[in-house]
Amino acid sequence: MIIKQALISVSDKTGIIDLAQRLIDCGIRIISTGGTAKLLSEAGISVLEVSNYTDFPEMLDGRIKTLHPKIHAGILARNDLPDHQQALDHASILNIELVIVNLYPFRQTIAEKNSTLMDAIENIDIGGPTMIRAAAKNYQKVTVITDPLDYSSLCSELEANNGSISLTTRFKLAQKAFAHTASYDSAISNYLTALDENFHQKDFPESLNLNFTIAQNLRYGENPHQKAAFYRDSIIPLGSLANYQQLQGKELSYNNIADTDAAWECVKTFDKPACVIVKHANPCGIAISESILHAYQLAFATDPISAFGGIIAFNRALDKDTTEKILKQFVEVIIAPEITPEAQQLLLQKNNIRVLVVPLQTGNSIYDLKRIGGGLLVQTPDSYNIEESDLTVVTQAKPTPQQLDDLLFAWRAAKFVKSNAIIYCRNGQTIGIGAGQMSRIDSARIASIKAQQAGFTLTNAVVASDAFFPFRDGLDVVVQAGATAVIQPGGSIRDDEVIAAADEQGISMIFTGIRHFRH
Ligand code: 5GP
Repeated sequence: MIIKQALISVSDKTGIIDLAQRLIDCGIRIISTGGTAKLLSEAGISVLEVSNYTDFPEMLDGRIKTLHPKIHAGILARNDLPDHQQALDHASILNIELVIVNLYPFRQTIAEKNSTLMDAIENIDIGGPTMIRAAAKNYQKVTVITDPLDYSSLCSELEANNGSISLTTRFKLAQKAFAHTASYDSAISNYLTALDENFHQKDFPESLNLNFTIAQNLRYGENPHQKAAFYRDSIIPLGSLANYQQLQGKELSYNNIADTDAAWECVKTFDKPACVIVKHANPCGIAISESILHAYQLAFATDPISAFGGIIAFNRALDKDTTEKILKQFVEVIIAPEITPEAQQLLLQKNNIRVLVVPLQTGNSIYDLKRIGGGLLVQTPDSYNIEESDLTVVTQAKPTPQQLDDLLFAWRAAKFVKSNAIIYCRNGQTIGIGAGQMSRIDSARIASIKAQQAGFTLTNAVVASDAFFPFRDGLDVVVQAGATAVIQPGGSIRDDEVIAAADEQGISMIFTGIRHFRH
């Protein structure tokens, strides 16, 4: 079906002049609202203004622009029903076969620091969603565009098909349009239901509407008998894994994505060149150094057996020398902010390895979500990174500057190890990681066994515990293993007993005041 009339009403005016010109070249008449019409006319494009067409002025500061039967009947009339077409003719209403609308920037408005409730309310678009929904409902006739990224393919299809768009494209665009208005309304609902009776912001809205869009179907889930897919959040911080670009390798699996996320989030927290190797959601080696090559060697040395088939993350560009070393081990995924051209060339030798790049940017999603039977647990992310000023030395012995650096490193590492977490470190390298045990003392024992297996002695090691020691026994285990400085949150009712045990053995201990459970 040939498109004769297009309605254009956009807040985000990117690319609109070029689009309108191409529509005109396809013989399409443009009907447009105040601001959009003005911009197009100034660019020399001929437009019919909505208010001239309806013979009804825009009013109430733009709250009423397109809410008129001449617009909505033109969109909603079915082209397969003669009655509908006669009704249009009778009222001198034109068919509208193309609707190009994007909405008032509600999300951007509420994201601004000093925005008020009134700003938010004024940025709730009414006429726009109405047109989008009407057009999407009538996709048998109407093509609806809500995303400037679709302009170019729209024009190509029109130009290749004498000004018409296929039913398949119209249906796809209608699906996208309803997802768009649903997501828009979700943002409004989340914002408004987070206000209390005094219009103050609560931490969590009464009703949480989530909007994720499918990014890809996955071959299977955690196990081959489970089906799976990966969905992207509607707002993504730039440095999130969901923004990954894959340079080479097999398709990512469900477990690859989960483990790569753990590795990437961990490596991003370090300032110095760092390497993190993850297996089954836990780091099996973390190190910082002057170069990523050295950091990789140190991280690998933590637990070479577990590193087999691991996910390796870097917070610097992956270079040729480091790649040469990595290629000696079996690796599932490599992720870095950049891969140098020489390194990319080398990686082609093993083109099954999945190689991802993501911009190195901190910043978290606003909510951390966990599904439980019949519900959702929601919390703010564990994004606090401690600094030296947060620490309290609680023992007579004070840590040396080198120990203090190692304690801070160990603490940052501990945050990414499943609880109960005990991590031995020395000189910017993890040398024994005890993860995911039901008792802290077992995690401590496992961490020292793993250190021994990898050939480390624990003399002069520091140790981090993700939560307090409930009794002195856990501390005794790590001191006997060789640790000479400890970092832990403190806060146990038996802190005095644990501090006395540390003093008795002449080691230093610092409290962070916060803990990092990770389940
Ligand atoms: P313009 O800049 O062209 O004056 O306005 C474009 C914006 O107005 C678009 O974001 C569109 O969704 C919105 N819009 C179009 N018609 C109406 C209406 O009748 N009421 C409201 N509140 N917004 C409208």
